[in-house]
Amino acid sequence: MAVVIDRPTTWVPFKNPKQCDGCFAGCCTLPVETSAADLIRLGVLSEDEAAASLKKAFRRLHKEGIVRSFHPPTGLFILEQRHGRDCYYLHPKTRLCTVYDKRPEVCRMFPKIGPRPGFCPQKKNIP
Ligand code: SF4
Repeated sequence: MAVVIDRPTTWVPFKNPKQCDGCFAGCCTLPVETSAADLIRLGVLSEDEAAASLKKAFRRLHKEGIVRSFHPPTGLFILEQRHGRDCYYLHPKTRLCTVYDKRPEVCRMFPKIGPRPGFCPQKKNIP
């Protein structure tokens, strides 16, 4: 069965990080939830700005094209996606994360957490 990103029932079991070699980084085309702590680590938000007002911080980050949305009850942001899908931090040619050491917590946890824990949308070529 062909892998379809938006249909986790088509995803493949994730058994080994070597599966990531040559993958088009489908996991980096899913919406990325980020906390204020993630954004501070990424260097796009200061601790002072976060403490003052996350709503105000969202307005600036949205204007700068870094985040797409903010959910006040949870304090979580969604990173902007380029070309409708790619994560803001995904390199379009290498298909590698440009902020790997500082990447958000959800990226570190995937695919232990995600739409289908233990599975990923692995594909060798850009669809
Ligand atoms: S921050 Fe990096 S690892 Fe996380 S989705 Fe974006 S490109 Fe992928």
